[in-house]
Amino acid sequence: MQELKIDFNKELFYSFEEIVTWRRYLHMNPEISFQEVETPRFIAEKLRSFGIDVRENIGGNGVVGVIKGDSPGKTIAFRADFDALPIQDEKEVPYKSTVNGAMHACGHDGHTSALLGVAKVLSRKRHDLCGTLILIFQPAEEKPPGGAKAMIDDGVLDGVDYIFGGHLATDVPIGKVAIRSGASMASVDAFKITIQGKGGHGAKPHSTVDAVAIGSELVSHLQQIVSRRVDPMEPAVVTIGSFHAGNAFNIIADTAVLEGTVRALNSDVRTQIEEEIRRILDGFQTADGITYTLDYLNGYPVLENHREETQLIEQLVKENLSPEALALKKVVLGAEDFAYYLQHRPGAFFHVGARNENPATQFAHHHPRFDFDEQAMLVQGQVFLLLTAHYLL
Ligand SMILES: [Zn+2]
Ligand SMILES: [Zn+2]
Repeated sequence: MQELKIDFNKELFYSFEEIVTWRRYLHMNPEISFQEVETPRFIAEKLRSFGIDVRENIGGNGVVGVIKGDSPGKTIAFRADFDALPIQDEKEVPYKSTVNGAMHACGHDGHTSALLGVAKVLSRKRHDLCGTLILIFQPAEEKPPGGAKAMIDDGVLDGVDYIFGGHLATDVPIGKVAIRSGASMASVDAFKITIQGKGGHGAKPHSTVDAVAIGSELVSHLQQIVSRRVDPMEPAVVTIGSFHAGNAFNIIADTAVLEGTVRALNSDVRTQIEEEIRRILDGFQTADGITYTLDYLNGYPVLENHREETQLIEQLVKENLSPEALALKKVVLGAEDFAYYLQHRPGAFFHVGARNENPATQFAHHHPRFDFDEQAMLVQGQVFLLLTAHYLL
């Protein structure tokens, strides 16, 4: 068994140049969320060239490859996302984006190429496999409602026992795999509040209900949700990102529109914050005579890694890469729609170190000069191969 595991890895290393070629092709030809056309075509064509069964247009632009082993056994799924961001590529490299205003600034080109590398290796090993591998290539991770939910609704998890996904991370050093059991990425919600007061002359405030004055008070009140209502041991954010009201210096505004986002690492806290926002608005309605509407949009849920599957990755990394390769993932309030898969099936989401000493690999994700150490794709692929060996050999 150990022999075969090593075999897997060797073959992945042999494919490195090809994986880099795919990654650079995708990097030069990015397609933003929900507008992916050529990328899924490219993926499907590669999978077919490896002799893998392909299903296209799953949950929109999604692609699924199926590798059925010769013997029966478990079914495990690996997921890679493939959408780009509406960002202008500002770095100077030969593989710079050729599309104006679109860029792979999160590493999804790397995720897809790494999983294609894994697919190629495993397509030749199907005789040794007991069980089935489902390779999920998912569009539209960057933009809620996202691609994951649609692919799940389209049955991508039918028959799947376990699911795993990985993300390259330029805040983690190359060679390391970072993971955390339980909540490790945040839920993300968006809301829009419209306050309706009563406009009037700037010199006659007593005959108005001033939407600017009330809206300003509302902003500071909303800040007290995190500082005074949420348990201080629970990370959470309430951000008001925009506030629009009024259009003249001497007219009291009748409406104010505020937009913001809520992040939390605990679904109870997430629900609590939404309730607090409504409670505060009801209070303003009673105290100040406004009326209001609240559009509250639930984005991605909290990403909760399952304990057993997290421990499995920890153990595989320690034993097969090195004990130093394993790192504890820092909790962040960024979000990931991989969270939906973990609501349906046991599994885990891991982060793969992608920065080296070169400052070019140290920009934050979504930065216009984002890039990563391409060796990280091998590490990501190795984790998938180790999981395959664990479940299907
Ligand atoms: Zn991103
Ligand atoms: Zn991402």
